[in-house]
Amino acid sequence: MLNMPERTYLHLKYTGLNQNKMETKKCYVCGKTPLSKDEVGLTKKIIDKKTVVFYCLPCLAEYLEVTEEELSAKIEEFKSEGCKLFE
Ligand SMILES: [Zn+2]
Repeated sequence: MLNMPERTYLHLKYTGLNQNKMETKKCYVCGKTPLSKDEVGLTKKIIDKKTVVFYCLPCLAEYLEVTEEELSAKIEEFKSEGCKLFE
């Protein structure tokens, strides 16, 4: 058995590695994490490709004053166009 500090260290190390790999994003408004590929892709597509601020679907909908359904439809539209941001 590992003692507590070691376990915490290993956990942080593992989580850190995982974050780098997955590029874990957090919602700027509500703090939801991780955001889905669709949410990240949509934020980039709508706000800016180089944005450092990301939104989850409900918060992005509120920010843009549209419904989540409209955003979901947009995601499908962008995907069908072959948008690279959603791969
Ligand atoms: Zn949010």
